[in-house]
Amino acid sequence: MNDIIETFGSMVFNERVMKERLPKEAYESLLKAIAERKHLDEQLAEVIAEAMKNWAMENGATHYTHWFQPLTGMTSEKHDSFLDPVSDGTAIAKFSGKNLIQGEPDASSFPNGGLRTTFEARGYTAWDPTSYAFIKDEVLCIPTAFVSFTGEVLDKKTPLLRAMEAISKQANRVMALFGEESQRISVNVGAEQEYFLIPLADFEARQDLVICGRTLFGYAPCKGQELEEHYFGSIRPVVNEFMKDLNEELWKLGVSAKTKHNEVAPCQHELAPVFTDANRAVDGNLLTMEKMNMIAERHGLACLLHEKPFAGINGSGKHNNWSISAGGKSLLDSGEDPMDNLRFLVFLTGVIQAVDDYQDLLRMSVASAGNDLRLGANEAPPAIVSIFLGTELSALVDALIDGTSFTSAEKVAMDMGTSVLPALSRDNTDRNRTSPFAFTGNKFEFRMPGSSVNLADANTILTTAMAKSLKDFADAMEGVGDDFEKAAIEYIRRVLKAHRRIIFNGNGYSDEWIEEAKRRGLCNYRNTAEALPCFVEPKNIALFEEMGILSEHEIRSRYEVKLEKYNKIMNIEARTMKRMVRRDYLPAINAYAQEIAQTINAMESAIPGIELEQQTDLLNRLSQGIKAINKQLIALDAAHQAALKIEDQQERANHYAFVVRPIMDAFRIEVDSIEKIVSRDYWPVSTYDDILFYVSC
Ligand code: ADP
Ligand code: MG
Repeated sequence: MNDIIETFGSMVFNERVMKERLPKEAYESLLKAIAERKHLDEQLAEVIAEAMKNWAMENGATHYTHWFQPLTGMTSEKHDSFLDPVSDGTAIAKFSGKNLIQGEPDASSFPNGGLRTTFEARGYTAWDPTSYAFIKDEVLCIPTAFVSFTGEVLDKKTPLLRAMEAISKQANRVMALFGEESQRISVNVGAEQEYFLIPLADFEARQDLVICGRTLFGYAPCKGQELEEHYFGSIRPVVNEFMKDLNEELWKLGVSAKTKHNEVAPCQHELAPVFTDANRAVDGNLLTMEKMNMIAERHGLACLLHEKPFAGINGSGKHNNWSISAGGKSLLDSGEDPMDNLRFLVFLTGVIQAVDDYQDLLRMSVASAGNDLRLGANEAPPAIVSIFLGTELSALVDALIDGTSFTSAEKVAMDMGTSVLPALSRDNTDRNRTSPFAFTGNKFEFRMPGSSVNLADANTILTTAMAKSLKDFADAMEGVGDDFEKAAIEYIRRVLKAHRRIIFNGNGYSDEWIEEAKRRGLCNYRNTAEALPCFVEPKNIALFEEMGILSEHEIRSRYEVKLEKYNKIMNIEARTMKRMVRRDYLPAINAYAQEIAQTINAMESAIPGIELEQQTDLLNRLSQGIKAINKQLIALDAAHQAALKIEDQQERANHYAFVVRPIMDAFRIEVDSIEKIVSRDYWPVSTYDDILFYVSC
């Protein structure tokens, strides 16, 4: 027990360590800089750097790095040792204030959507002191923002920090209307991470898994997830050992891994941390993914973070639990006091407005080649964004809009004309697993993000859109004076009425919902190619500019980067498919066909006239299979080559989504149907049966 407590945060330069190690004045100045998001002056940076270096070296660090989040979606680091040779042939350890607050990576080698060209490649990383420095694998990691020489944002952290600042400002304006003093506003995020663990040997044997992170082929296993025995089932020992290791490493890094369990699909698991502020939660989630990959290998396992590693069984997502709090108290919590409830309704209405107005951006933020295989596949929410409020809240919203009376679960009646709002019970929010955006008591759970995504984008958009809702409210209410309560209720009623269409409590997996959503005018972007263009629509550019998050130039570059990434992944997948078929599958099928042919000849000469119907039938099926596979191979090749000739990235993406992807699907069906009848001894890769139901590894 004590060990856990000791372990937690032991590799983090957190407030406790700062307090221990820094002179009182420096410690206080640093806390103030963090709270107010101010830059550190050089003198202070010198003092902190020295303390940080000593602490890091005592804890085994030899190098330092600026740890940042370029637009690849991953994290980046370049290690520099503390070593500084001196003239007498020895060396000293050096880490200056400048080393701490600023780094200079080559910006042109990271995706930048044309913002940087190689001859003006300088970029800067700058310490984000709101996320603690930590030691990972003997390297002192300093979480940083990444911008170009000319100040354009090149990473995913900076917009999130700006969005958090924007919401803080606007939420405090709203709080002031309720007579509250300015206070610390936090955006809280708890990211539940799903993943697969499979035997490393099977992983290595499959080019599709190694190159693409998912299987591009594979016939369904004899047993899938139909017995529903894996969810919350007992955890196999090798996985348990992995989880123990993972928890320990994450705890050291101050990532509060809390819950672990088996998920629905065979070999699928989940880890949920305790929520923290959005910036640290995103950092923590990125560290979690990195550690999962590394630790799996130590146990002879491979971790798959892809959204859909196996066809026919559930894929993996990342539930993004989101809330906003003031002074540590959730603003999405209804209270006993009627005024608390009015405030709750203001914030709730803000979320509803934000999600409706920017449903396209939210959908865009989770669009990826991998997530295209998951969203809308009856295991994950549809690609349509809607909000689930639960029975009681929905009834309240209806009553507000229609001006009818409302009785809460606790039987407290409410007259909608006044501010006498009833206490709403927290725990009666029923569950709806099919909703992409569900209210769960005092937070919203955004269930669309894919398992491999960096959650910074989704949280930036959610937070920015909410800041805009709060701004609209404050703009309208400041100056109404004594009539505030009445005016606020009127405002809420009007906004809810305008955005009622986004609320949906029914079954998100049903076909009727797709029709209904269309009637309501909600967006349904079926794939990444359809989802990305909204990023650069005037209304969305206006949002980012108004809230001070990104400039039009930066938005366009990000759109470009996302398009390119999608196109590159599709290119890699098409290539891998063709190569596996040419080099692995066709030779194997031909070899097996040859064996059957020889068997037929041998049997015929042993007993002339012997009945050979089964054997010739099999040979015929193999031969026809080879023909069908070749036909699809030629079709894929032609479509793929055509894609590469399209200059415009959006058009190329459209071609991949609507022409290439369907051929890939048809292609795999042909290969899979032959996999089913080829001898196990001849099949060149591990099958779904082997991978998903391994006994030991
Ligand atoms: P579930 O029923 O979906 O499993 P949990 O209560 O276990 O819900 O929480 C799931 C995730 O939501 C956890 O990461 C948890 O820390 C996080 N969470 C809980 N409360 C909040 C909140 N107010 N804001 C943001 N995240 C939260
Ligand atoms: Mg959950």
